[in-house]
Order: sequence, then structure tokens, then C-alpha cells
Amino acid sequence: MPELPDIVVYIEALEQRILHHTLERVRLSGPYLLRTVTPPIQELEGKRVRGLRRIGKRIAMGFDQDYWLVLHLMIAGRLHWRDRGPATPGRSAKKLSARSREMAAFEFDSGCLTLSEAGSRKRASIHVVAGAGKLAGFDPGGLEVLEARFEEFAARLTSENHTLKRALTDPHLMSGIGNAYSDEILHAAQLSPAALTSRLSAEEIARLYEATRTTLQDWTVRLREETGGGFPEKVTAFRPAMAVHGRHGQTCPRCGAQVQRIRYADNETNYCARCQTGGKLLADRSLSRLLKQDWPRSLEELEAMRGNRVPHRGQRSH
Ligand SMILES: [Zn+2]
Repeated sequence: MPELPDIVVYIEALEQRILHHTLERVRLSGPYLLRTVTPPIQELEGKRVRGLRRIGKRIAMGFDQDYWLVLHLMIAGRLHWRDRGPATPGRSAKKLSARSREMAAFEFDSGCLTLSEAGSRKRASIHVVAGAGKLAGFDPGGLEVLEARFEEFAARLTSENHTLKRALTDPHLMSGIGNAYSDEILHAAQLSPAALTSRLSAEEIARLYEATRTTLQDWTVRLREETGGGFPEKVTAFRPAMAVHGRHGQTCPRCGAQVQRIRYADNETNYCARCQTGGKLLADRSLSRLLKQDWPRSLEELEAMRGNRVPHRGQRSH
């Protein structure tokens, strides 16, 4: 799932290409992508893009008259861009319909933005709303760690007792962090994914705060450099330069031990036992169960969970 660094770089690339440009035509090829009926998405046609924002792992595009399109790529959704070529709309439409994975096309006066989604479970979503006030409804309320003071981070982290893996990836607690960067953050902080937030020392929380900020910032810079002014076409959760995520069985760049994994529900977390768990393997049944109990069945469910939760204002204590 594209996480904060990926989304930031997507937004920067979009700003260069569609900001102040007019959306001329929208085409949707799947019935499930668009989740709102009013205002109709066609009302965006002829409007100019006024601004772009990140809301958690979502991308919000603001148009004239305060119309907003909110895009959630979920796990397999990706964006693509082609500059405006010679005007051959017939040919372009044919090409689009032949590519079954292409779910939506947004033709701007500057080029064409398309959304593709791999796999059979179509989870990516588009919402269209009128009025920036409605955007708040899309914000799961996670803390923006790059903007938060240490005290705010500590309060939020310990507002509920969860495993660290869950606390970092829960969009209601922390904003923009998913399975990949949480693995990297925990490795950088040298903390166990199964450690409980209620049992962390102040020093460990401080380490986690620094590691979260550094990991998100460094990866944003790295992805920006890799993209190099082009459009980010290679967005993936698995990158060779990652320390542990997706590197089960390979060596830890810090200590040389083998990267371990633990599977729980539909998820997997990667960690270095020597660096993060005092050498203890989390494949141990009880720890595995702990992670499993602390999770909904899948990342998608965690992402989709809404409501029925106590708002997190960092004021509750343990
Ligand atoms: Zn290690």
C-alpha cells in the first residue's frame, strides 16, 4: 500500500503536472471504484485543479468551486501519467479499454492521469465531495508524526495498549504508515513489533519517535531522488534498499543476522531478532498469537475500520 513517502512523491509529481490545469474528461471503467453519487464525477469536467493534499494514505485533489476528489489506492492501486500527445482521442480510448487493469482515466489539458489496480480484489476508491469541510470525514485521525512534538507522539502511542506493529500501522493512531515503513521504523528503533505500547520506557518511546521521523523523511527524500522529476511509476512496498521489509532470509544490514518473519492473520512482519527482540524469535507461538489478537484479519480491514472508536486526543492515560 502506498504510504506517506510514496503519497508525498505522488502529490509532488501531480502538482507539477495538473495544478492549475483543467480536467477535460473523466472515464471510469469499473463500477466499484467511485463510491459517491452526488455530486456526479462528471461535474469535475471543465474545472481546474486548485490544490492537492494528503489525507493519511489518501490523495485529495481540489477543483474549482471547492469540489474535491479523494483517492485511496489501497494495496494494489497505482497512478500513471502520460503527457499530452497528438490529439487522437479515438485511439487513446481504444487503448484504455483494452487494458483491463486500468480503472480510471482523467484527461487534463496537460496530459492523462490513469489509475490501475492489480489483482481481483478491487479496493481502491474514489469519492467526490463538494466543500472542503467534507474532507474531514476522510481523515481517520492518525497523528502526523512529522509535524508532532515528542509529547504528542508519546501520548498518542500510549493512548491504547497495542503491539507496536499495530500502533504504528493503525491509521486512527498514526497517519500514513503501513506495513512496509512500520517494519523499517521498528528496525531503525531496534524495537520488537510485538512489544506492547503500555510497557515501553520513555527512552524507547523517544527512540521510536526519532526512528519514525527519520525513516519517513529519509525515504521521502530517496523516492523523490529516484523519481527525479519524472512521474513515480515504480511505487512498490518492496525496495531493495529496505533493511528488513520483504527481506526474509536475507541479512540484516546492521548486524548481519538473518531477517526473520512472523505471519499473523493475512499479514507478515519482518524483523531482525538480534537487533530488535534480544535474539528471541517471534515465531514463538504466544508472541504470534499476541500480534494476531491485536489485528483485524487484514491490512485492508484495518484501513477500512471506521467509527465506534474513542476519539484519540492524546488525553487519556494508562
Ligand atoms: Zn540486525
